[in-house]
Amino acid sequence: MTNRNYQLVIVGYGGMGSYHAKLLKENQSINVVGTYDILEEKRAASLADGYKAYESLSAVLSDDAVDFVLIATPNDVHKEIAIAALNAKKHVICEKPVTIYSEELIEIMQAAKLNDRKFIVHQNRRWDEDFLTIKKVYDEQIIGNVFHIESRVQGANGIPGDWRHLKAYGGGMLLDWGVHLLDQLLFMVDSKIESVYANLSYILGDEVDDGFQVCITFENGCTSLVEVGTTNFIQLPRWYVKGTSGTAVIQDWDLNGKIVTQNRGADVEAPKPIKAGQGLTKTMAPPSELAVSTSALPKIETVMESFYDNVISVVEGKAEPIVKNEEVLRVLQLMETIFKSAETNEVIKDFDNITSKIN
Ligand code: NAD
Repeated sequence: MTNRNYQLVIVGYGGMGSYHAKLLKENQSINVVGTYDILEEKRAASLADGYKAYESLSAVLSDDAVDFVLIATPNDVHKEIAIAALNAKKHVICEKPVTIYSEELIEIMQAAKLNDRKFIVHQNRRWDEDFLTIKKVYDEQIIGNVFHIESRVQGANGIPGDWRHLKAYGGGMLLDWGVHLLDQLLFMVDSKIESVYANLSYILGDEVDDGFQVCITFENGCTSLVEVGTTNFIQLPRWYVKGTSGTAVIQDWDLNGKIVTQNRGADVEAPKPIKAGQGLTKTMAPPSELAVSTSALPKIETVMESFYDNVISVVEGKAEPIVKNEEVLRVLQLMETIFKSAETNEVIKDFDNITSKIN
C-alpha cells in the first residue's frame, strides 16, 4: 500500500512510458498503479515490473481510483486518448509533441476546460541544465544583450525506432527533437517572431524529415538558427550564443563550454595580422591577450519545481503550470509554419499576428 495521494496509469508502456515509471518511483505524491499498452508483450513487461496491466483503455478510464492518465504512445493517438481521459474526469499528462496538428491541441484544451481537469504536456527539456545555463546567460546579460542564438542537436544514427519513420504516426525529426529546441527557444526569448525560414532534410530517403535547419528572427532584434541532424558524423556545439560584449559556447550535455567577453577600456593592443591561407588578415586574427577574458559557464542557482511536483501544485490550485498549453500551442503553430516555409521555400513573416488571429 502507498500513502501517495494521486494514482496514475501510464498509457503506452514503451521507451518513454517505462522511463516515467522509473522517475515516478521517486515522487512523493504520485503512485503508478498500472499501465495499458496495445501490445501483449508490454502488458507482460508491466506485470513483471510490478504494475497492474489494464486490458483496455476503457478499463483504465472506468477505474474510479485513477486520478491521472499519462500518455506515452506514438504521437498520432495522443489526441483521442487525451480527450477520452478528460471526458472520464481524469487529469492528463501528455508526452511531446502533444499532437501533430495545432487544431488537435485546441480540441484537447476545450475538453480540459469543459471537464474542469488539468492537461499538461511533458516538455521536460525546459529543465535541462544546458538550456538553463544559456537562459541564465540570456536573462542576466552575462555577454551583454544577446543578438544571436544557435541551438543544435546532431547525431549520426539516423531516425530511431519504427513509427518515427512514418508520417501517419507523427514521425520525423522536426516533431521529435525540433519540438524541444523550439520550445526552449520560445520559452527563453520573450519577443514576437518576425520571420521564419526553414529547410528540412530527407537524406535517408524516409517519407519524414531526418533533420532540419530553421532561421527565426524576433522583433527584439535577436536572430536564431535551430538545427537538428541525424547524419552528422562530426558535431557542432549544442549552443553558440553571441552578445554585444561576448560569446558563450556549450559543447555538449556535460556542460563543457566557456564564456569569452571583451575587456572594455583596457589598454588593448591592436591584433597583429596573421597569415591565413594564401593571404594576411587582421580582421580574423585572434584578439590580443588583454582584449578578452575567458570564464567558466555560470552555475544555475534557482531550482524550478520539478515537472511532476508542478503538475500536482497545478491540480491543487497552488501554482501556475510551468509548461502552459498556450506556449505549447505556439510551438505547434511554429512547426506548422516551418513545414510550410520548407515546402514553399519562402520566408514567412508576421507569424505571431497570423496565429493570434487563429487562437
Ligand atoms: P515507443 O514506441 O517506445 O513506445 C510507445 C508504446 O505505445 C508502445 O509500447 C506501443 O505498443 C504503445 N501504443 C501504441 N499505440 C497505443 C495505444 N493506442 N494505446 C496504448 N498503447 C499504445 O515510443 P516512445 O519512444 O516511448 O515514445 C512515446 C511518446 O513519448 C512519443 O510521443 C514520443 O515523442 C515521446 N517521447 C518523449 C521523450 C521526452 O524526452 N519527453 C523521449 C522519448 C519519447
